[in-house]
Amino acid sequence: MNEKQYQMIGVIEAQRAEGKNKINVYSCLGCARQTITIDRDSGVTPFNISCPSCGKTAMSAIYRVSQDLTPTHEFYRPSFAYYQNIPSREMRRHIENGGLMFRKLGNLK
Ligand SMILES: [Zn+2]
Repeated sequence: MNEKQYQMIGVIEAQRAEGKNKINVYSCLGCARQTITIDRDSGVTPFNISCPSCGKTAMSAIYRVSQDLTPTHEFYRPSFAYYQNIPSREMRRHIENGGLMFRKLGNLK
């Protein structure tokens, strides 16, 4: 996938205009902690993530949460340069399909 194609995915996702800056909560089935996320870009986010605290499965509230919560993590669309260097083919596929990446807020990549 070249850079132009890559940027086009971002444009297509942005046109769906559903996701940007939305707050969501993932509740852990193991430690019961809640991870509050924000979608920085429009795109696809998973129904569950691995809990940042304990690594067990945390389930999405599918955005049925207060939009006033303060996020600790974000979903974002990486730059093309970053995407090209992702070793995991599965992760690259995820991004090619409009998927976003997950990180703790404050970590810049
Ligand atoms: Zn947990």
